[in-house]
Amino acid sequence: MLEALKHVASATCSNEQLQEKFTDLQPGLSSRQAAIESERCLYCYDAPCTRICPTEIDVPGFIQNIATGNINGAAKSILDQNILGASCARVCPTEILCEHACVRNHDAEGAPVRIGLLQRYALDHMHFPAHPFTRAAATGKKIAIVGAGPAGLSCAHQLARAGHDVVIFEAQPRSGGLNEYGIAKYKLVGETAQREVDFLLQIGGISVRHGQVLGKNVNLSDLQRDYDAVFLAVGLGASRRLGLADEDAPGIVAAVDYIAELRQTDDLSRLPVPRQCVVIGAGNTAIDMAVQIARLGAEDVTLVYRRGAEDMSATAHEQSIAKENQVRILTWAQPQEVLLDTAGNVAGMRFEKTVVVDGKLKTTGETIELPAQAIFKAIGQSLDLAILQDTAAQHLQLEGGKIRVDEKYRTSLAKVYAGGDCITAGQDLTVQAVQHGKLAALAINDDLKAKV
Ligand SMILES: Cc1cc2nc3c(=O)[nH]c(=O)nc-3n(C[C@H](O)[C@H](O)[C@H](O)COP(=O)(O)OP(=O)(O)OC[C@H]3O[C@@H](n4cnc5c(N)ncnc54)[C@H](O)[C@@H]3O)c2cc1C
Ligand code: SF4
Repeated sequence: MLEALKHVASATCSNEQLQEKFTDLQPGLSSRQAAIESERCLYCYDAPCTRICPTEIDVPGFIQNIATGNINGAAKSILDQNILGASCARVCPTEILCEHACVRNHDAEGAPVRIGLLQRYALDHMHFPAHPFTRAAATGKKIAIVGAGPAGLSCAHQLARAGHDVVIFEAQPRSGGLNEYGIAKYKLVGETAQREVDFLLQIGGISVRHGQVLGKNVNLSDLQRDYDAVFLAVGLGASRRLGLADEDAPGIVAAVDYIAELRQTDDLSRLPVPRQCVVIGAGNTAIDMAVQIARLGAEDVTLVYRRGAEDMSATAHEQSIAKENQVRILTWAQPQEVLLDTAGNVAGMRFEKTVVVDGKLKTTGETIELPAQAIFKAIGQSLDLAILQDTAAQHLQLEGGKIRVDEKYRTSLAKVYAGGDCITAGQDLTVQAVQHGKLAALAINDDLKAKV
């Protein structure tokens, strides 16, 4: 259990009552609904939904397969581009991706084809007698991947398809990365993430070694020496700090740490649930944290952001989920001081109001205090510099605090590639990490072939 919240009382509802609140945010389509929805697709030429999807799924193609009852065909075409299509169907912010681009938004119905739900339908209803992808003839090449999150797993599958052998070194006891430890529980329910990992590994040629930590018991120079290529897919393991005094007082935790605990526990009633709490941040992690703690029974949840609602990186859809869950959103206020009770535990936070003057954020001097027994920080993640402990990794060039790569996902170190959240390009989204892994695998394969 989280040390910093040891003094906070547990949830007041039973585990069974709480589990009810973490069922699917959006249930899947029935076969009748899928048939009707698939008929709404106009099968556009040069479809905008495919162009905007980071993994370039042939959206009209798979929807047409569903319409004609060819579910395996639909699933195969999705998986060909995105082997983690089942989780992406549930977690992609479709409102800013494929569904945003759908031309149906502009016709009389004014509503996009529900692409995410159709994608989920195809992958939930596929039935293949064996893994639908086969491996090319063995190349005799061995590739090491560090991190079994979406980027690492996608890279591993693509490399295995090309006939290479892959070993994944993973710090945590379970594979899946943030699909397993980070995504809101009501978006990826039950064992969905693990089922997807198991399915992916069925291709063969991939072994995952858990409890292996780069910078601790795994050395980058050893991997460089022992493998034909190395792919770093370590994500962003460190939580940013507010830089305030008393930031480490009991009661303040990183939202990702609480969410990881929430996703892993079998008994939700044992989680510490403050009556009043503050979540600091403006992204999807902040929203997920606020909504989940509200569902666990916190009575008074305030999400605080230093700029306006329109500047929040959480989409309008995510913000509406927060409001539906009685989360109060307080904008134009930035943390000034952690307030403690006589025992030294968090009792609240003082915020200073903010305003933009000449394009710059300034404080106004006006303050407000919010009482809270817990403060959850969701102000962003950064590269965990512990991976740079090792002599080889110390020479990795960084850019903006992330690993610098070229257009072929090559880092500054020979034979070492990187992708997913830990590199500079693109948004920090599951689907983007899957695409990085896929493209990096293709680049590794090309480079290995070129050497031959
Ligand atoms: C709370 C939260 C909610 C999110 N919600 C969404 C969402 O709804 N939709 C969406 O599209 N995206 C969401 N994201 C973003 C998405 O989860 C990430 O973009 C995606 O997981 C990145 O994949 P990755 O493989 O690069 O990294 P990760 O998923 O972080 O995986 C990295 C893996 O590397 C391992 N690792 C780290 N360091 C080491 C080491 N030194 N040695 C060995 N292994 C190591 C980790 O244990 C982990 O398994 C969310 C992120 C967070 C934090
Ligand atoms: S992977 Fe995500 S963005 Fe791409 S089509 Fe599927 S739901 Fe849309």
